[in-house]
Amino acid sequence: MEHTKCLIIGAGPAGYTAAIYASRAALSPVLYEGLEPGGQLMTTTRIENWPGYEEGIEASVLMGEMRKQAVRLGADIRRGGITAADFSERPYKFTIDGIGQICADAVIIATGASARYLGLPSERRFRGMGVSACATCDGFFYRKRDVAVVGGGDTACEEATYLAGLCRKVYMIVRRDVLRASDAMQARVKDCPNIEILWNCNTLEVLGDEDGVTGARLQRKDGEVFDISVDGFFLAIGHHPNSELFSEWLDTDGQGYIVTEGKSTKTSREGVFAAGDVQDPTYRQAINAAAAGCRAALDAERYLKGL
Ligand code: NDP
Repeated sequence: MEHTKCLIIGAGPAGYTAAIYASRAALSPVLYEGLEPGGQLMTTTRIENWPGYEEGIEASVLMGEMRKQAVRLGADIRRGGITAADFSERPYKFTIDGIGQICADAVIIATGASARYLGLPSERRFRGMGVSACATCDGFFYRKRDVAVVGGGDTACEEATYLAGLCRKVYMIVRRDVLRASDAMQARVKDCPNIEILWNCNTLEVLGDEDGVTGARLQRKDGEVFDISVDGFFLAIGHHPNSELFSEWLDTDGQGYIVTEGKSTKTSREGVFAAGDVQDPTYRQAINAAAAGCRAALDAERYLKGL
């Protein structure tokens, strides 16, 4: 079985930064990118709060540069995804895409988080037929049409303002009478005349036919049920950590985030480190994920030196 000193799982800001640091520390890291190279940032367009770019930078460009930097420094970045993990004894063993195998002395888990859905059967039925969790990926299909965005956080506001530039009308379906989003994002929403916020509303059903979504049935807190007519139904209600593969072996919190020790990235298993959105329920920003990736590489380096 192939053996590596340092295995990095995941290719968002945390994984790539860990690869940059681990390469410079001569750990010859192997990184598996999984299904979403670039991570969640690839579902957004321009990032304005990544330090160092006065005018902001396209997320895909930033992630592409991080990847190239890691490769130039010596990281072995591979396309596959880890599909099983065995932490019962060291070196830890992993299955790649259901067939390949690799074992590692130190492991950095940087698998990030994925979009949450409401869990309605109708939502599942129309997934990819009008139901989407990524406005920047799919918004283009709804040009000059009416759409809805569920959620009241920064993501929902960002998606709604993005869609407002493309679509005729954007409904925001918000379950309370306030937005959770930052003041800056709320101000942007208010500046868009074609966004209408439907306060105190929950979605009962996504409506549609064989061609896809045609609307949504909503219920206001006071009990009133009403339909809106939309062609696109976008979810922006948060994320869940991609920790399922590891939760059998590592301590996770009630929401599935991998628990790390104090300021370190150490998990409950020796030699296994976690960085980024898979262990951070609080800050969830690319810059924090990158910083955690750095810490994970430093923690892995110290651990390997002590072996
Ligand atoms: P949040 O957890 O911040 O917000 C989720 C939103 O979805 C809330 O309004 C929540 O309502 C609502 N919601 C959750 N579950 C349901 C449900 N079942 N039905 C209806 N509504 C629901 O997630 P975000 O993805 O918006 O943001 C995550 C983090 O990323 C935050 O820290 C945010 O600040 C950050 N972020 C920053 C950006 C930026 O700075 N440019 C851009 C995007 C995200 P309720 O409020 O009632 O709980």
